[in-house]
Amino acid sequence: MEEAQSRAGTPPAESAETPETQPAAATCMICGQQKTDGIHILYGFICDSCELEIVRTDVMDDKYAFFVNRMKQIFYKKDA
Ligand SMILES: [Zn+2]
Repeated sequence: MEEAQSRAGTPPAESAETPETQPAAATCMICGQQKTDGIHILYGFICDSCELEIVRTDVMDDKYAFFVNRMKQIFYKKDA
């Protein structure tokens, strides 16, 4: 079961300066950048900005297929 993500009203606020110091950075599986803010899913990590983009991307959009593909790769790693 997937968690429903209702973030419709959230603006893409990207504050460059965050007071909290989180040394643990993870590599985003979408953009491939090292980020500290984001969500950890089953076998990967999606940074905040990518997550936001996925959520806002329409299913009909070409980008959506790209995101889904990226995530499939992660889920399929399970049995690799
Ligand atoms: Zn990212």
